[in-house]
Amino acid sequence: MTNIPNIFASLVFGDEVMQSRLPKNVYIVLKNTIKSGEHLTLDIANVVAEAMKNWAIDKGATHFTHWFQPMTGVTAEKHDSFISPDGNGKIIMEFSGKELIKGEPDASSFPSGGLRATFEARGYTAWDPTSFAFIKDDTLCIPTIFCAYNGSALDKKTPLLKSMEVLNKQAMRVLRALGDEETTRVNTTVGPEQEYFLIDQKMFEKRPDLMFTGRTLLGARPPKGQELDDHYFGILKKRVSEYMKDLDTELWKLGILSKTKHNEVAPAQHELAPIFTTTNIATDHNQLTMEFMKSVAAKHGLTCLLHEKPFSGVNGSGKHNNWSLSTDKGENLLEPGKTPYNNTRFLLFFTAIIRAVDEHQDLLRLSVASAGNDHRLGNFEAPPAILSIFIGDELNAIYTALEQDTLYKDKLNTLIHVGPPALPHFIRDTTDRNRTSPFAFTGNKFEFRMLGSSFSISGPNIILNTIVADVLKEFADELEKCDNVPIKVHNLIVDNYKLHKRIVFNGNNYSNDWIEEAEKRNLLNLRTTVDVLPYFVLKENIDLFVRNDVFTECEVVSRCEILYENYIKTIQIEALTLIDMVKKEINYAVLNTQKELAEIIKTKIDIGLNVNTEKKLLEKIAALFTCSFAKLEDLENAVIDNKSMTNLVQQAIHCRDRVLICMLDLRGVVDELETMISSKIWPFPSYSELLFSVK
Ligand code: ADP
Ligand code: MG
Repeated sequence: MTNIPNIFASLVFGDEVMQSRLPKNVYIVLKNTIKSGEHLTLDIANVVAEAMKNWAIDKGATHFTHWFQPMTGVTAEKHDSFISPDGNGKIIMEFSGKELIKGEPDASSFPSGGLRATFEARGYTAWDPTSFAFIKDDTLCIPTIFCAYNGSALDKKTPLLKSMEVLNKQAMRVLRALGDEETTRVNTTVGPEQEYFLIDQKMFEKRPDLMFTGRTLLGARPPKGQELDDHYFGILKKRVSEYMKDLDTELWKLGILSKTKHNEVAPAQHELAPIFTTTNIATDHNQLTMEFMKSVAAKHGLTCLLHEKPFSGVNGSGKHNNWSLSTDKGENLLEPGKTPYNNTRFLLFFTAIIRAVDEHQDLLRLSVASAGNDHRLGNFEAPPAILSIFIGDELNAIYTALEQDTLYKDKLNTLIHVGPPALPHFIRDTTDRNRTSPFAFTGNKFEFRMLGSSFSISGPNIILNTIVADVLKEFADELEKCDNVPIKVHNLIVDNYKLHKRIVFNGNNYSNDWIEEAEKRNLLNLRTTVDVLPYFVLKENIDLFVRNDVFTECEVVSRCEILYENYIKTIQIEALTLIDMVKKEINYAVLNTQKELAEIIKTKIDIGLNVNTEKKLLEKIAALFTCSFAKLEDLENAVIDNKSMTNLVQQAIHCRDRVLICMLDLRGVVDELETMISSKIWPFPSYSELLFSVK
C-alpha cells in the first residue's frame, strides 16, 4: 500500500519545504512575492535558488529546466545540468538566482504567428513563483512564462496570469462597493475533469493514423460498440486499474490532487478528476496530468489517447472545466450561502456571468475550437456548438420573480416578495443536473463542458476570466458612483437578466428543437473552427482584450494566425497519412484478395464447378476498388490544391469543405472493403481489436 500522506507533493518545492529550507526573512519575502505577483530581487533569488538546488539534489535531480507552455499545446523544457567546472578539473553543482528567475531558450522554432521574426529569435522565460517548482525525470522544473524580447507573450501562461489579475481587480472593486472590507484577493478556481482512451500499445503501433494524427482515419464499425452502456461506471479491468493506481501515485508525488476514476460511456474510455485549485496551478497540473497519462501508459504496455475523437461512431473525449471564484478568506462567491447578504452578492456575480457568456458567446466558442473538437461538438455526444447556460429550476424561479416583480415561493413554500431592494434568500438547489448543457451551474460552480480532451485549459480560462472581469468592471463603476447600493444591486441584477436571459436554457441541448429555438433567440451557432476564427480579430474583441490588459492587438492577431495554421496543418497531416495508408497497404490488401479469388475461380472452372458466387464477390470487391481508387485520386488532388494556396483563410475553408469531405468519402468505401476482406489480410487492427484489447 502506498503511504499517500508520505508521498504527496514529495517532489514539489512547496510551502512546507520552503519554510524548512529558507531563512525566515527570505521565506517571508518570497511568500509576499507569490501573493503580490511582484518581482524577486536577485539577492533573494540567489538564496532561493541555492535552497532549491540542494533540495533537488537531495531528491536525486541532476538537471534543471525552465518549464513553459508555448502555443503548441504541449509543454516545453530545455535541460541544463547543475554541473559547473570548479577550475581544478573537478565539478561543482551550481544554480544561481539568475538562472532561477530568467532563462533564454533559443526558441525560434516555437510558433509565434509572426510575433518574433527569426532574426530576433531569442525569447526569454521568467519564473512564475505562483506555481511551485517540482522534480520530473531527475530534473528540477521551474514553471515559467515565455515572452519575446519586445515583451509580447509567446505562451499560454502569461495571458492566463493577466486574466486572473484583472478578474481579481474588478471582483475586489465590486466586493468593496458591497461593503466588504476584509477580503484582499479574489482567485478563480478550476477543477478540470479529463477524459481519455486507453488501448493496447501493440495495437496502437500498427495504426499509423493513431500514431501520426491521434485518431483513426479508417475503420469499420465494430459489431459491438457502446450500445449496451455496460462500460459506464463498470468494473475496471485489471490492467486499467493497475495503470490508474500507478498514475495516481505519480501525480500525488507532484502534489496533484487526482481523486476520482471511473469508466466513461465508450469502451476503453475513462476519466480522471482532480480536486480543484487556483486556475494557474490547475492549468500546470492538467498539463502534467496529460503528460503522465501518456508516459505511465507506456510503462504498462498501453497507449493513452487524448484526441477528441479517436474513433468514429464512438463517443469522443472532452474536458469539463469546473470554474468558480473564491476569496482569500476561503469563501466561494458562487456558493448561494445561507445568509441573505451572501445571496445578494451571489446573485450579482451570477448575473455578471450570465451577461458575460451572452455577450461573448463567440469568444467562448473560439476558446474550444480545434480541428479535433470539430468532430465532437454538436454530434449529440457533446454539447452543440451553441453556447447557453443551465441555471436550474430554483434560480430560474428567482430570476423570473425578480424580473416580473412577483412573489417567489422558496423551498419551504414561503412566499417572498422580491421587489427592490429586497432579494430572495434561498438555499442551494441540488435537485437537477443537466448533462447536456455546455455551461451548467452545478450548485456552487459553473461547468464549462465544451473543451476538447487534448486542450490546455489555459485558453478557455483566459476568456472566462476576461469576459467576467469586463462585466464586473461596469458593475463596479456603477456601484461606486450610486447613492443607494442595495437598489443599484437589485437593478443591475434585474436589468441585466432581462437583457441577457436568452442565453439561459434549461432543456435538452442535444435535441434538434433546441437548435431551432436557439436560432430564434439569435444565439450564435458556429459549427466549425473555420466559422469561429474570424471572430477573434473583430475590433470589439481586440478592444476587450486590450482594455483588460490581457492581450495586445498584435498578440491577438498572431494567436489567430497560429490557430489557422494548426487547423490547416492538422488536416493536411491527416490527409497525407490516409493517402499513405491506402496507397501502401490497403490497395495491395485488396489486390491480393482479388488475386486469391481469381485463382479460386480459375481452379474451380478447371474442374468444372460453378463459380457464380465467387464471381459475384470478386465483382463487388473490384467495383469498390475502382471506387476507392477514384476517391483516393480526388483526395490527392485536394491536397495538392490546398498546398498551392497562400491565403490562410482560404486554405482553412478548403480544408474543411474539400479535404475533409474527400477523406470521409474515401473512408466510406475503404471501410466497406474492410467488411469484405479477411482480417488476416487486412493490414490494420480493427475497431474491435483497438477498443476491446485491454483485459
Ligand atoms: P460531480 O458530482 O459532477 O463529480 P464534483 O463536485 O465532484 O462534481 O466536482 C467535479 C469537479 O469540479 C472536481 O474536479 C471538483 O474539484 C471541481 N470543483 C468542485 N468545486 C469547485 C469550485 N468551487 N471551483 C472549481 N472547481 C470545483
Ligand atoms: Mg462533469
